[in-house]
Formats: sequence, structure tokens, C-alpha cells
Amino acid sequence: MLDVIIIGGGPAGLSAAIYAERAGLKTAVIEKAVAGGQISQTHKLENYLGFENGISGADFAAAILAQAKRFGGEFILDEVTDLELEGDVKKVITKGAVYETRSVILAMGVSPRKLEIPGEQELSGMGVSYCATCDGAFFRGLPVAVVGGGDTAFEDALYLSEMASDVYLIHRRDAFRAQEYLVKLAEARSNIHFVKETVPVEIQGRFEVEGLKVRNVRTEEESILDVAGVFVAAGHIPGTDLLKGKVDLDSHGYVIASENTKTNIDNVFVAGDVRTKSLRQVVTAASDGAIAAMEAHANIKLK
Ligand SMILES: Cc1cc2nc3c(=O)[nH]c(=O)nc-3n(C[C@H](O)[C@H](O)[C@H](O)COP(=O)(O)OP(=O)(O)OC[C@H]3O[C@@H](n4cnc5c(N)ncnc54)[C@H](O)[C@@H]3O)c2cc1C
Repeated sequence: MLDVIIIGGGPAGLSAAIYAERAGLKTAVIEKAVAGGQISQTHKLENYLGFENGISGADFAAAILAQAKRFGGEFILDEVTDLELEGDVKKVITKGAVYETRSVILAMGVSPRKLEIPGEQELSGMGVSYCATCDGAFFRGLPVAVVGGGDTAFEDALYLSEMASDVYLIHRRDAFRAQEYLVKLAEARSNIHFVKETVPVEIQGRFEVEGLKVRNVRTEEESILDVAGVFVAAGHIPGTDLLKGKVDLDSHGYVIASENTKTNIDNVFVAGDVRTKSLRQVVTAASDGAIAAMEAHANIKLK
């Protein structure tokens, strides 16, 4: 019987592992793909403390995995497919086994909704980004496009307009879903240009983004926007399908919890991007992981 099973080996899960193992909890991390999570996909992490000149996502992922392994927990490469969370003994079911544990930390992160157009995958990390806060600084003085029409697209456009030369906000409809005040703020910025009733068709470039081909959905006319970056703000998909009906989720599928990381089920905690929160970054994921582990420790050892 384990004390804690952490589902997901991204920054939240590995931070939880470090704190849980150092607190003496018998710990296992189950990761289905690449340890390090989403951050392993970025070419440079610049806004996390401790790296004066930044660090590549892959190096950061390798470092946090090695650090977490140092304290002796178990690392299992497998996919969690089902959970039994009620009661004192919880079951975590993977493709290959069933594990019993006293507590569970959900840290399965999110994945960005993709545009699914040519060039997107090939130029991901080379001008195509799913995170303006993360990558905006690389486009200082350059023109960029933001694809989307909701709050995130507007927040991204406003943020990027402070560093990019021009921001083209591309939206398939004539009206935006974003809140009125965000639309007004964007309208007041001279370097934000609205490209309405338009969809992206192809991201062009060989080793970096050189342009974005777009199509007007009313006239069918195609044109090319001369941009160095394409920020996709089409939303995220939390990896919570297996939690439906088992843990309280909000209307977008995020696990409902506050800073204490407690879910509505006893001894089930949630950390990182997969929980309801305002800022999804490595720093907040790491913080959640630490809190979740210490909450689990308090429930198990100090009761
Ligand atoms: C391209 C890109 C660039 C970014 N740049 C920055 C940046 O510069 N600065 C910054 O602070 N943040 C950045 N971020 C955001 C940052 O990566 C996330 O906020 C952070 O990784 C969240 O950590 P997490 O552990 O909550 O989730 P994730 O990193 O998403 O990790 C979750 C892990 O859980 C695993 N998993 C999911 N479901 C299961 C399952 N059923 N069974 C087993 N394992 C499962 C996944 O494979 C994944 O490895 C960037 C994100 C992207 C995509």
C-alpha cells in the first residue's frame, strides 16, 4: 500500500513527489508520456526562478525528473485509465496494473487545443506558441498573430501588444466572445488589428514562422499575413475525462479546488494546470505540488 500516488509527472507532479518523499511518504508517480510534462516542449523557459539566462524545456524537464528521483520514490511509465477514489483505500488503475494508496494527487495537466492546419506541428516552438506569457518576449519588435476570439485571445493580444510591433487578432466570426472591457481595451491599442470572419489556413516557414495564410470565410479570399509568431488561443483541454462523475469539475472540465489543493473527495488533491486557477505556469504548478504533498502528509501522518 502506497501513501500517495501522483498522477502526472509534470512540474506539479514532480514537485509533489519531492515534497512527499522528503516528508517520508511512500510515493509513486505515474506518467503516461514524457516526464517533465508540457514544459519539455518549449525551447526556452525564461520566467522560472533560478535560471539567469533561461533553460531549455528539455533540460529543465530532465533536471526536475532527476531531482525528484533522488529522494527515492517510484516512477512508473503507464497511463492511468480509471480511479476508485471513495473510502480510505483508493485504487488507481493503469493499463498495466492496479495500485492501492491512501491518497491521490491529480496532476495530469492540460493540452492546448490545436488549429490542425499545415505548418502548425512542424513550427511548434519555432514561432508557433500556445502560451503568450511564456513566449511573448521572444517577439519583441516583431509582428505576430493571435488566433481566437475569447478572453484568452484578448488577454494574449493585449499582453503581446506591449512587446510586438503589431498584433493581428484573427477570429472566425464578426463578433467576439471576449468580455466587453477586454474588447474595448484592445480597440484602444493602435498596434492591435482585428481580422474578423477569417480563419487560419497554413502557417508558413521552413525553420521559423515566416507568414500565416488566412481565408476570409465570407469572400473565400486568401491572403498572407507577414508575421513572425502565431499564438494559438483556442483554449485548453484538461486531461480529466477519467474524473467525470468522481471528482467535482467546473464547466470546462478543470478540477475544482482552491490554494489548499483539496478536492471534494477526502485525501484526493489536485495540483497544477488541471485545477481551477488564474495562472497556469511552472511556478504555480510547482507551488501546488508542494502544497498538495504537504496536505496529503498532514492527512495521513498527523491524524
Ligand atoms: C509550448 C509551451 C511553452 C510553455 N512555456 C512556459 C514558460 O515559459 N513558463 C512557464 O512557467 N510555463 C510555460 N508553459 C506552461 C507550463 O508548461 C505548464 O504550466 C506546466 O507544465 C504545468 O505543469 P503540470 O504539471 O500541471 O502539467 P503538465 O506539464 O501538463 O504535466 C502533466 C503530465 O501528466 C501526464 N498525464 C496526463 N494524463 C495522464 C494519465 N491519465 N496517466 C498518466 N499520466 C498522465 C501528462 O503526460 C503530462 O506529462 C508552457 C507550456 C507550453 C505547452
